[in-house]
Amino acid sequence: MSEIILKEVSYRRLKNGQYIVVSYDTSPIVVDEEIVTVLSKPDVSYIEKDEDLFKALKEANFFLNSDNEKYSKTIPKEGNSMLWKFSQYTMIVIGLLSFVSIIISILFLGIPTGDKIIPHNVPILNVIIFIFAFRVIVGLLHELMHMVYGRNLGAKLGGLGFNISKGIAFVKMNHIWVWSFLPRFSALFAGIAFDMFILAILSSLAQIFYNNWMLVTASSVLWVSIIWQLQFYKNCDGHLIAKNILDNPFIHIDAHDKDLKNTKDARVWRRLCIIGYIFSFIIIIFWLIPFLMSIFYYFFDNVTFTFF
Ligand SMILES: [Zn+2]
Repeated sequence: MSEIILKEVSYRRLKNGQYIVVSYDTSPIVVDEEIVTVLSKPDVSYIEKDEDLFKALKEANFFLNSDNEKYSKTIPKEGNSMLWKFSQYTMIVIGLLSFVSIIISILFLGIPTGDKIIPHNVPILNVIIFIFAFRVIVGLLHELMHMVYGRNLGAKLGGLGFNISKGIAFVKMNHIWVWSFLPRFSALFAGIAFDMFILAILSSLAQIFYNNWMLVTASSVLWVSIIWQLQFYKNCDGHLIAKNILDNPFIHIDAHDKDLKNTKDARVWRRLCIIGYIFSFIIIIFWLIPFLMSIFYYFFDNVTFTFF
């Protein structure tokens, strides 16, 4: 076996007593105390002997290709200054206040479901261009919020990746697993807090400019973007926030493990997944289908129709 070089690791003790270990550009791995002690030492002879550990580290990208890479790249550390803590609490409070005002806005505006996305009296091409531009801008700002609170703004390429096939931007957030709860929660919550903040503003404006189609279309798109993050069973912000609150990055595996599936957290996770499926169903029934039908009806002006 050729000589291996391990990246400098960071770790934190999880609720279950095991340790989560990350390094620059790695997936997180969970190991016991003995292994953490080994990983934090420069001597790698133990790793070479333990085949399973070696394989896990290799798959999670813990090895370096060359020595000079070693100290140039480290993961962002959590901030501890008063100003930083203040900005975290401020963002969380703004997010929660936005949530409350969105709920209140339902009393006045209802919920803009998928049939409200395409207005009848506007050329459909304009609407589609608007939706696309709005979604891209809000999506990028959402990711920017993750980057700011995840402290990886300064990282090369800003840590922002693009998944072309899914048409989404995403930020690598694995490093936050070794942070304490508040900064970890802030980094994950910042995106959805931003979406709710924009939706709260749009909803307030919609009450003044009642007939503006852009406010209605944008609100409907944001509603579905926010609910999207609550599909706990798949990789989304809600999924990651729930994993972080349960303090277990592999709860999605543990929840179906024959030895662990009867723990309280495993049951909580399985229930969250059911809730996630309900949200997927809501998206399909109240947004996707009405949206597709409204496009269909757009081209048949004389047909009158109502949803719900
Ligand atoms: Zn997000």
